[in-house]
Amino acid sequence: MAAIDGLPPLRDVIQRHGLDARKALGQNFLLDLNLTQKIARTAGPLEDATVIEVGPGPGGLTRAILSLGVRKLIAIERDSRCLPALAEISDHYPGRLEVIEGDALKVDFAELARQSGASGPIRIIANLPYNVGTQLLVNWLTADPWPPFYASMTLMFQREVGLRIVADETNDHYGRLGVLAGWRTEARMAFDVPPQAFTPPPKVTSTVVHLEPRENPIPCAIAALERVTQAAFGQRRKMLRQSVKSLGGETLLAKAGIDPQRRAETLSVEEFCRLANSL
Ligand code: SAM
Repeated sequence: MAAIDGLPPLRDVIQRHGLDARKALGQNFLLDLNLTQKIARTAGPLEDATVIEVGPGPGGLTRAILSLGVRKLIAIERDSRCLPALAEISDHYPGRLEVIEGDALKVDFAELARQSGASGPIRIIANLPYNVGTQLLVNWLTADPWPPFYASMTLMFQREVGLRIVADETNDHYGRLGVLAGWRTEARMAFDVPPQAFTPPPKVTSTVVHLEPRENPIPCAIAALERVTQAAFGQRRKMLRQSVKSLGGETLLAKAGIDPQRRAETLSVEEFCRLANSL
């Protein structure tokens, strides 16, 4: 593979440190540094940015991010076997890479961002472990206060999850995730990554999703929005008068000005917010 930074090829790094991929940790590594640079570039300008990366593993994406001139990169990795390999990258880019060993689901990212003292934008970039990816995304989408601590998120998902994130009422993948992401961010699928780009290859195609927070999302309480989307999509084939019955049914729908005969999958984000605000 083309060298982007004078460090050894990732295949050698993995072999030298005995980093055989573990399924339980969602480990599917990217070894092509041109591809990892393409992912990092999708995040936007990195020169003044502080980047937070989840799950650096042997460091393919980490190296790409650093090679693009990022000021500071904070990486959170759960697998302690990866730390010596990451320390080599840190030595190569003195003072720019901080590695935190731990479970990203337990990290207070807003606090981490505060402590970093970053003056430029904070960008989240990750080839996420699939088993925790959606939960992390939901945590970041429900950040409080809003606008959040980050300027963008550039994340790898299984394609099917990516489709759900960017979906709206005009397509079949629309559901709770699409409402949440559409309400608070502008989300787009950047490009697909085939299974064979990973070691080992996963069963399905992956996709890189780029999300930027909206400055002024429609005012709406998250808890209320979650209640209405949970009820409505919990019975997505039913008419709303049935699916949101426990929340007030026809009275609630009349207050929100929404036809009780419609189904969840036909409601726009704006209409879901109206429903939530009528609770
Ligand atoms: N970024 C590397 C790449 O692109 O080749 C590795 C990506 S691999 C899909 C996911 C990485 O996340 C693994 O290194 C795994 O050990 C790490 N990981 C899994 N669960 C984690 C968690 N809860 N918190 C932090 N890292 C985690």
